[in-house]
Amino acid sequence: RTRIFSGVKPTGHLTLGNYLGAVRGWVEEDQHRAEALFCVVDLHALTVDHDPARVRRLTRQAATLLLASGLDPEVCTVFVQSRVDEHARLSYLMECTASDGEMRRMIQYKEKTAREQARGGSVRLSLLTYPALMAADILAYGAHEVPVGEDQAQHVELTRDLAIRFNQRYGATFVVPRATVPKVAARVMDLQEPTSKMGKSHDRTAGIVYLLDEPEVVRKKVMRAVTDGGSEVVYDRAERPGLANLLDVLAACTGGDPERLAGGYDAYGALKKDVAEAVVETLRPVRERHAALAAEPGYVDEVLGRGAERARDMARPRVDAAYRAMGLLA
Ligand code: ATP
Ligand code: MG
Repeated sequence: RTRIFSGVKPTGHLTLGNYLGAVRGWVEEDQHRAEALFCVVDLHALTVDHDPARVRRLTRQAATLLLASGLDPEVCTVFVQSRVDEHARLSYLMECTASDGEMRRMIQYKEKTAREQARGGSVRLSLLTYPALMAADILAYGAHEVPVGEDQAQHVELTRDLAIRFNQRYGATFVVPRATVPKVAARVMDLQEPTSKMGKSHDRTAGIVYLLDEPEVVRKKVMRAVTDGGSEVVYDRAERPGLANLLDVLAACTGGDPERLAGGYDAYGALKKDVAEAVVETLRPVRERHAALAAEPGYVDEVLGRGAERARDMARPRVDAAYRAMGLLA
């Protein structure tokens, strides 16, 4: 049976980008068609400046939101990364498989390094080795597919390279995975800065729609979205990125095609109103279920406990085999 693995970092409140680019596909398709694992990857949250109490809170919130979005713990496995030691164990072997140069080439490393420095902080070594841990997350489970937003495709590509290299050097151990990206909204842009990706850890929040934003807040953020010069409504990602982003979001929320949708509008105002309502309606059930689940923390903890146990059992034999293949007396 096809196996699927993916995750989110507890580095901030989940955004519309996380939802449309990743989580919605996990809920609507992936969990039903494959043996799927979804993880709150809290170890990855320690790669940048962090507040321990906040990470702990966001980890539980992210898990609650995954369930609120519709992941069903009866059909898939939902768990927290740090509860399963196999991730960290295998990560070290991946560091011994990867080269320094291929880690430094990662776009996320370059971008997050620049941001940490601009914030006046130092760059943690784990930010550089991040892709080794991510490769371990995926390879430990023998995942065939990794459903992610477009920005993570490069890391999955590196994971493929590492799996192939490991198998060639030490014998067939890992499944070689591939990234799957949604057809629309694979890269939702910041509403205020439509040339950069919407990201939950960004400092400026005016252009970010969070899954738990009140409808009024969502409407305000969408109505104030930056649109590019010009007045015609056309779909052109290169020349009119702000407008294209709104059309992508509308298409993703209503199931339409962004180019065709553009033809239906002759003014920005009407388009923005429809985008705002479409986003509010898309997020409404998630917010409502989140409120219900948040009142039941015992249930979420129980799901995470079961999930970690199941994940551990799935990962251990393959990670042990990798230790032996590399020459360790495991
Ligand atoms: P951070 O700013 O801390 O990197 P993030 O918002 O990028 O946070 P991640 O936890 O890094 O979120 O990514 C979780 C999943 O959401 C990944 O599959 C990623 O590709 C996807 N994703 C993140 N941002 C977007 C976006 N703007 N559009 C589409 N998909 C996205
Ligand atoms: Mg990210």
